[in-house]
Order: sequence, then structure tokens, then C-alpha cells
Amino acid sequence: MGKSAYIHTFGCQMNVHDSEKMTGILEEQGYSRANSPADADLVIFNTCSIRQKAEQKFYSELGRMKSLKKKRPLMKIVVAGCIAQQEGKNIFKHAPHVDFVIGTQNIHTLKNISSSTFERVAVQANPDIATTELPIKRNDGIRAWITIMYGCDNFCSYCVVPYTRGREQSRPSEHIYAEVSELAGNGYKEITLLGQNVNSYFSDTDFPGLLRKLDGLGGIGRIRFVTSHPKDLSDDLIRAMSELPSVCSHIHLPLQSGSSTVLRRMNRKYSFSDYLNKISCLRKQIPGIAITTDIIAGFPGETDRDHHRTIHALKQIEFDGIFAFKYSPRPFTKAAEMNSHVEESVKSDRLNEILTLQDGITLQKNKALVGTVQEILIEGESETDSEKLTGRTRSNKIVTIPKACSRKGAVVCVEITRSRKHSLEGTLVNS
Ligand code: SAM
Ligand code: SF4
Repeated sequence: MGKSAYIHTFGCQMNVHDSEKMTGILEEQGYSRANSPADADLVIFNTCSIRQKAEQKFYSELGRMKSLKKKRPLMKIVVAGCIAQQEGKNIFKHAPHVDFVIGTQNIHTLKNISSSTFERVAVQANPDIATTELPIKRNDGIRAWITIMYGCDNFCSYCVVPYTRGREQSRPSEHIYAEVSELAGNGYKEITLLGQNVNSYFSDTDFPGLLRKLDGLGGIGRIRFVTSHPKDLSDDLIRAMSELPSVCSHIHLPLQSGSSTVLRRMNRKYSFSDYLNKISCLRKQIPGIAITTDIIAGFPGETDRDHHRTIHALKQIEFDGIFAFKYSPRPFTKAAEMNSHVEESVKSDRLNEILTLQDGITLQKNKALVGTVQEILIEGESETDSEKLTGRTRSNKIVTIPKACSRKGAVVCVEITRSRKHSLEGTLVNS
């Protein structure tokens, strides 16, 4: 019987997509997919270290593997991803039951998993990461993630990513075109271009140029991208978004704080008024665009006044949705060394105020869509109601419709009949 592997993925879409690459390599090595660690010959933890909570979650899962490893000593445990990169061989000190450590730039080494040359710890920088093509095993036949760049050069003072993912490297555009053409040929309907800061993409073209070329290839009706940095959101990118039919009318543009003082200490390289200008250009040139953001509550030195600036910013901008987090000190980062860290209870209060305010705004925004007709791409059965299908509008809002109306992969027009906090309901108007 062949060997089997189980991959436990923590964290962001970048990690989800890295796991698709690991699965692709392991399939080529003859591994099948195991349903649980207990059934697997190889267990990989693809980890996230963006906040302390994510790390704690991983370490408690890893702890649980100790007894399984005792029962099945031949099972191999690999720690991959951001914690692997951050900790290297220190992982063995925390967890002697781990066999291998693979950093974020060394996924390709998995192809040697069955060989005696497979390294116990591979966390070295890989200058060829952007040109190395890896096999990818995608789960979904409709929507695909595509890496367009690796790493980050921005060094926001709170963020561990530049240390765990290395320096920015853009993939050659012809590799991206080839991947997108193949996906279009295989019936994919939507792609999401991935990078920590996609709008600083640069090869023989810049990011707006890449979008223009991908739109011109045809075959993919919906192009999305994450994440954009406000400082690199150019007029040309806004123009490209407004002109290109396949580029969806949604942008995730992390603000982080409504206080320019805090933004400066975060090393974000824009002020709040710079950010407002970008929002007004986006809304003027792309009517109906949905804008979502990330906010950090309780950055070191954040005063009540700074926090109220963030509250005011949320009221003024009225984002379609936000992800908000309590500031979490991270290794290597400048902010972790700053004075005047905010008390945990104050961070929690500020985060709650932010989330409660935004819930009301999101609900109002969703209510305003009732009665409108939206194009949605059906993604599959609803997770909460097996009689319903869910899909997304071009502006990335989740819509559920009765199951009898359609099927996964269809692009249909629906009239929005009801709004909820996190989703909409609709009925089919035509296909
Ligand atoms: N590159 C993207 C950007 O600049 O927005 C995304 C980076 S990160 C994976 C996603 C979000 O996590 C950030 O936008 C930020 O709000 C949050 N984040 C990063 N480091 C954090 C920290 N130390 N504490 C709390 N939130 C953090
Ligand atoms: Fe982290 Fe800033 Fe880079 Fe985003 S842009 S990954 S927040 S350092």
C-alpha cells in the first residue's frame, strides 16, 4: 500500500495555497491524502505566526501529537510555514517528537521526502523561489489562488512577515500567464492573485500591466487580488480596475489605524489623509466598489485619542467589512521593543468597540443591496443549510440562493431579497 499524508493548515490564504503546493509535490511522490493524523504516515503542520494566538493554537495541536507518535513511531511529523522559518531547529527543543522543519522558502525540498538526502532542517533563503515552478493540487475546480510574488520588503513595525517570508520576489509574468491560461482551459471561473503587497509586483511589467495582460487572455471572468498596500495603490491601478471587465469591483486595502501618528510609528508610509484620497479616487472611478480593510487595536503608545480617530475613520469611510485584531507583540519586530504597550483589557475594549461599530455599518451596507440584481458565481452548497447554495457577488459579498435554482460553477443573476450581518439571500432572475 502507498503512503499517505495529512496536512494541517493554519493562517492565511498564502498558507492554504502553500498547502496545495505541498499536496502537489507529495502526490508526485506517491502519497495519497489521509483523512486524519491517526491514518497518516506523514503529518505536516503548515503554521502561521502573525499573532501570538496563531502560534499557541499550533503548539497545542503539536502537543497532542506526542501520544500518537508514541503509538506509531514510524509516522513522520514535519513543521512547515512561518513558525518553522522563525524557530528553525529550536522547534526540536519545544517538541522532540518533530522529525523535520521546512521553512517558507523550502517547500520544494519535500520532493526528497523519501530520500536519505532529505534535510532535517531547511530554512535557508531561496533566491530562486519566484522562478521555481511547483506542482499544485487544487481542491476547488472553480476558483484558484495564484502566487504572483513572494515575501515583503515593507517592514511595518508590528509585522513578522518580512522575517518569516523573506525579501520580495516577483514571479516572471510569463509563468503567471501560462498558469492562468491552463486554469481557463480547465474551466476555472475565478482567480485570486496572491502576494503580501501585490501592487508592488514588478517583472517585465508592473501590477496594472499584469492585470491588463491577464484580462486580455480571456477565459477567466473574475480576477481578484490580495493584498494591496495603500502606499502602492497608483492612479494607473485604479484606472486598470475601472477599465478591465474581468477585474472584480472589490479591494482589500488595510488601513490599520485612523491616526496618522500611529501610522507613522507603524512605518506604514501613508497618512490618514493620503488614505482618504485613495478611497475617494476608488469610489469616484469605480462606482459600487466594495472596500474592506484590516485594523489593529492597541498598537504600542495608542492613546484614547488615537483610538477615537480610528472610530471616526470607520464612520467616515464606511467599509464594507473589516478584519480587526488586538495588537500582538512579535519576535524581531520594532514595535515589540517600543515603550508604552497598551494593557490587554484596554486592547479588548477598543477591539470590541471597533467590531460593534463595524457590524452596524456592514448591516446597513448589506440592507442597501436588497432589491438590487447582482451577478454571483456559485461556489457550492451552503455550509449552514444543505438546501441552499452560496455564491459571491463581484464585490465579494456572500449570497445564498435555493438549491434547486442552480449548480456549482454557474454564473447567475440574482435579486437580493434579504440582508444579514455577514451575508445576503437572493432568488434567481435569469442565468
Ligand atoms: N501584507 C498585508 C498587508 O500589508 O496588509 C497583510 C499582512 S498580515 C498577513 C494581515 C493583517 O494582520 C495585517 O494587515 C494586520 O492588520 C494584521 N497583523 C499583522 N501583524 C500583526 C500583529 N503583530 N498584531 C496584530 N495584528 C497584526
Ligand atoms: Fe506585514 Fe506590512 Fe508586509 Fe503587510 S506590508 S506583510 S503588514 S510588513
